[in-house]
Amino acid sequence: MDCREFEKTIPEYLNKNLDYETMESFWEHMDHCDSCKEELSIQFLVLEGMKHLENGDSFDLDAEFRNRLEMSRRANKRRGMLMNFGQWVLTFVFFVLGCAFIIIFG
Ligand SMILES: [Zn+2]
Repeated sequence: MDCREFEKTIPEYLNKNLDYETMESFWEHMDHCDSCKEELSIQFLVLEGMKHLENGDSFDLDAEFRNRLEMSRRANKRRGMLMNFGQWVLTFVFFVLGCAFIIIFG
């Protein structure tokens, strides 16, 4: 993912619409691109700031931003683990089916 793609992806990220793969490359890019990180934090602050202003409650946007980053990073890691587990189960099922096939027809 390059800077232009990253920028296009920001609104989707903020609306939590990213799939696992996109999220991974999103993080990867942000990890070594300070200007995109900056851009993300600005868009987050604007979006969340508006919401809070509408609700009229008090807020600590900086803390919220860090929170949001941390949470989505963790959620994506969990998703990755689940996917690995799914693949493992699939492999196992094929292995068992293969064995059964050999036993029955072999
Ligand atoms: Zn960038």
